[in-house]
Amino acid sequence: MVRMSSLDRKDYLSEAGSRTFDLLVIGGGATGAGIALDAASRGLETLLVEKQDFAGGTSSRSTKLIHGGLRYLKQLEIALVREVGRERAIVHNLAPHLVVPEKMLLPLIKGGTYGKLATSAGLMVYDVLAGVEGEDQRVMLSKEETLEKEPLLEAEMLEGGGYYAEYRTDDARLTIEVLKTASSFGAVCLNYTEVISFVYSQEGNITGAVCQDVLTGKSINIKAKQIVSAAGPWVDELRDKDKSLTQKRLHLTKGVHIVLPWEKLPVRQSIYFDVPDGRMIFAIPRGKITYVGTTDTDYQGNKENPRTLVEDVEYLLKGVNHMFPEIELKVADVESSWAGLRPLIHEEGKSASELSRKDEIFESKTGLISIAGGKLTGYRKMAERTVDLVVKRIKKGSQKTRTQHLVLSGGEFGDVDAVFQFSTSLSEKLEAAGILEPKSTAKYLVENYGRQSLEIVLLANRQQEEEAEVKLILAELAFVLKYEMVNAALDFFSRRSGRLYFNLPSVREYGDLVIEHLAHTLDWNSERILREKEELQLAIHEASHFPVSV
Ligand code: FAD
Repeated sequence: MVRMSSLDRKDYLSEAGSRTFDLLVIGGGATGAGIALDAASRGLETLLVEKQDFAGGTSSRSTKLIHGGLRYLKQLEIALVREVGRERAIVHNLAPHLVVPEKMLLPLIKGGTYGKLATSAGLMVYDVLAGVEGEDQRVMLSKEETLEKEPLLEAEMLEGGGYYAEYRTDDARLTIEVLKTASSFGAVCLNYTEVISFVYSQEGNITGAVCQDVLTGKSINIKAKQIVSAAGPWVDELRDKDKSLTQKRLHLTKGVHIVLPWEKLPVRQSIYFDVPDGRMIFAIPRGKITYVGTTDTDYQGNKENPRTLVEDVEYLLKGVNHMFPEIELKVADVESSWAGLRPLIHEEGKSASELSRKDEIFESKTGLISIAGGKLTGYRKMAERTVDLVVKRIKKGSQKTRTQHLVLSGGEFGDVDAVFQFSTSLSEKLEAAGILEPKSTAKYLVENYGRQSLEIVLLANRQQEEEAEVKLILAELAFVLKYEMVNAALDFFSRRSGRLYFNLPSVREYGDLVIEHLAHTLDWNSERILREKEELQLAIHEASHFPVSV
């Protein structure tokens, strides 16, 4: 049973303060969520605390691909490519609605970074390392075949293309479904709960943490036999609190994505292409938009709210306009954006793009375990390695992970055909209920919630409102309140539904309605309602306006 209801948060908080857990996980991003699921499913009593909303850090700000990282081949990161490459198919099987096969087109351009031979060999090695078989193996395309796949490409500069298999996802939804699955194995998961300091035994071993409920300011003392920090960009801050920060430190780099209305960049499919400075970026169509990213620049600013600057937008637009010269995109065309921080491990003398994406575990003298680096795609293997260490230390729980077989909540389909059939039948139900765009709404619901969409449709049927669209959004809100610990309007519009990035007009349209219903359910006073309205307006502004500096 999933125990992540917003209404029962008080109970979970008092439970957190009254038990001694086998494991405290700090950080509710993909890494922490994966660790909580691995640990709870091996029989460890697990508590996870997150100081913002779940996935409020890097895990809602990635390129949203479950990918092997083709470019890491060039850096000869063979082990990394093999591991994450193989993880793709496993994670797809755990949630086939949320980790969706996506063919990637790599156009070969006259004077571009790679020639046909190098690309063909590179893609073949990529497939071999990742164990890709059959129809999914890479194909090299002629110029004409490439143009057929993507007519928006400029014929004159094109030499051909590589066509290979990847997967796309929604990083925040993946994190939340992993957390819900962990909760169904008994893990207690709390958002808006910040670790302020650590508690030690007389011998100097870490035995707990003092946390603060960010929503009320109340303090909670947590007792745990083992503590893992999966705090992403904040890992060094926690190592500092533990007085265990060594020479080996994080190196944060910022990555920005911009969102354009699909008509402005009407690509038929996902493309990975060269930009003038020798890097490569993605353009990924998603429903009514296309998003483009990413940048990779050193970062020292505020970690909670990295901003998209006008120079980031201009860099990405220059890349797109170079590849699609007839498009001529301008800053004013950009509808929304997001910026995230890569928590990489510093390597002396290496630039942002050259730094390894490998993960690493640090063990401090006090017993604190920290894990940093890595990829969203590798969250399950990172969790396995971390929990192996915890199990070894406390001699409790099964030796082997089970997560390769644990289907994530909402993901009980078996294969993509079943997802398709489910989506078709849901579309029919939505049409009967009077939804104006039943097909795209069904796709949205299924890609976000999988089989749980049925419960949302049932909840919609019980709503009193007249308009079918309003009924549905209120049902979605009711669902995430019941199962996904939504505590603020932005939790819903950003991490649960992705609307802040992919459907900004709907945030403008339904913002007040959602806040009104949240206020009613969560018993907010007028001051809180005002703050929520201001925070939502600020988030809309920051996603769609780009300062020169901050
Ligand atoms: P986070 O998601 O940042 O989670 C750490 C959490 O710890 C945060 O939510 C934070 O609030 C919390 N925390 C910190 N301090 C405390 C405290 N004191 N108390 C409680 N909680 C605390 N990977 C891929 O596989 N595919 C991609 O397409 C991809 N694209 C990327 C694009 C960009 C621009 C970036 C930046 C990264 C990308 N990555 C990608 C990498 C991937 O997103 C990250 O590796 C992954 O999301 C990191 O997850 P995490 O859980 O380690 O960190």
